[in-house]
Amino acid sequence: MNVSTSTANDPTPAESAAHRESLAAFLTFVADTIGVAHHLEGGLLNLEFDHRQHPAWPKPYHVKVAVAGSALHDPPRRAVAGIEGARWLWNLVDIEHGAVLVRPARQPESVHEFSNRLFDAYQVEDGQAQLAGCRLTEVPFLQVTQLSVTNPAQVEHAYYDASGEHVSESTLANLHLADVVPLDVQATSMGRKRIASVIENAALEDDRFIAVTLVVAKRAEGAVQFGIGEQCARTSFDDWTTTLVAPPFRCAATGSETFHLAAIDDGRIVAADAIERCEESGARVLDCERITCAVTGKKVDPRLITTCPQSGDKLLTSETATCAACGQAVSPKVLGGGVCEACRRLPSVDQSNTLVARLIERYPALGRYRKFQAGEAGGLVRVVAIGWWRRLQLTMPTGSDSPTQLAIRQGLVGRWEQVPTSEWSMQLGYSN
Ligand SMILES: [Zn+2]
Repeated sequence: MNVSTSTANDPTPAESAAHRESLAAFLTFVADTIGVAHHLEGGLLNLEFDHRQHPAWPKPYHVKVAVAGSALHDPPRRAVAGIEGARWLWNLVDIEHGAVLVRPARQPESVHEFSNRLFDAYQVEDGQAQLAGCRLTEVPFLQVTQLSVTNPAQVEHAYYDASGEHVSESTLANLHLADVVPLDVQATSMGRKRIASVIENAALEDDRFIAVTLVVAKRAEGAVQFGIGEQCARTSFDDWTTTLVAPPFRCAATGSETFHLAAIDDGRIVAADAIERCEESGARVLDCERITCAVTGKKVDPRLITTCPQSGDKLLTSETATCAACGQAVSPKVLGGGVCEACRRLPSVDQSNTLVARLIERYPALGRYRKFQAGEAGGLVRVVAIGWWRRLQLTMPTGSDSPTQLAIRQGLVGRWEQVPTSEWSMQLGYSN
């Protein structure tokens, strides 16, 4: 902290003109902050305290200060000059708190003073907003007051932050730092040591020095939590209590910012205007996550969708068709005569094919077949044994050599039918 009342950082004339007030008004205000009685009459400000209430305060217990009018130029007997009266008062302030303690008059001091302002900003469908922690911190600003050079009936204020930098006009205006009320010492965590460190080197020795006022601003840091059903989401804030406004909720699913929240059927809390109905089930889902069914053209809940392993089409699971040969659920578009494209277009292989050879070893009945087809598609391996009169198809997941489906086709134009597992040993020629 190294502020000075006479450095190159001084406010411009325009700025200081904006932060003037009468000496009488300022001293009266300071007297009020520490409980000194005052009475203004004929340009003289009478300041007085009860020494029994303030045994630590030194004599004199009473001063008469020339603050305005003709008294300024021709002080009556037993009256002191404005700067002297200000020093008498400052001495008491210094003994009492170390600085004049004030807060912006319009500043919310506690959480409940702004929590409703936060909550009212949100519309939470079937839920509520509440605070999920809120920490208030005090940030001191300094108002250094000097007697005006041009008018001894006036004082000029200059404003600094705790690091000694001039406070911008916009910050002054936004935080109402120049519109203040006394701060009860019980209501602040600013202790004597902290105050001393903040006002250190604040040019207290300047011959126009009147007082240092600590303007205690407050910041609020926390989060608003939205609860709908079992789910919750939150949005955080960190701002001055004076300027704090409700932060918009950022929808994680869509990236949009909103004050209108609602839950979709999977429980997620999202921006309400991003929600649409599933055209199949009527469920509330995110519009951006709805998928158009390749068969029906409906925009539906992604949880109802299956991707055809062969065509890649996305379609309602209820619209998939099952291949009679391999049992795979596929888009109806890839079926022909009840059989999927992968099953219809299997390339021919012979008995020496590694997979075929292994299957024949395990299932001796396959050795009677002369022709084979085999291929992998859509996550399944299919092997067909072709005889004069019938065909057998074994299907297994890619990477496995244990068939999960066995189908049979009898006759030249017969249809594929699944073989119940109880009949596998008979068809494949092995004993259980
Ligand atoms: Zn198939």
